[in-house]
Amino acid sequence: MNDLDQLYQQIILDHAKARHGAGLLEAPQGVAHGESMQHNPVCGDHIQLRVQLEGSLVKNVSWEGDGCSISMASASVLSELATGIERDEFMAILDEFRELMRSRGSRAGDEEILGDGAAFAGVSKFPARVKCAMLSWVAAEAALLAANE
Ligand code: ZN
Repeated sequence: MNDLDQLYQQIILDHAKARHGAGLLEAPQGVAHGESMQHNPVCGDHIQLRVQLEGSLVKNVSWEGDGCSISMASASVLSELATGIERDEFMAILDEFRELMRSRGSRAGDEEILGDGAAFAGVSKFPARVKCAMLSWVAAEAALLAANE
């Protein structure tokens, strides 16, 4: 595969089309939730992301946004991965994804941990696109930090 093929893997293109978690869900009263808005001025991507918690469990992740296929696909993968798992478990996945994005192509994505997120390994070779891929993850981290208990 050449670099550009790696950048736009089919998995990424599929997620950019069928966006998991797209459409902000209202948090019912009494449900702990946090929210974050992030903007990537370099590419023009923006996202508003909301997490709902049930104790230490991420009940769901929903978001609204617009941007390039990398940023939208990444948000979709994140929603799929994060929904229904422990908050700590999600933070560990986030660390792994961030390491992958900082690897400048030196790492293969660990599918066991990252699921479809491993398909973004090729993105790390394109520093300008790393922000696109990280946008929703940064939003999710901030939303979790902001979440009321
Ligand atoms: Zn972008």
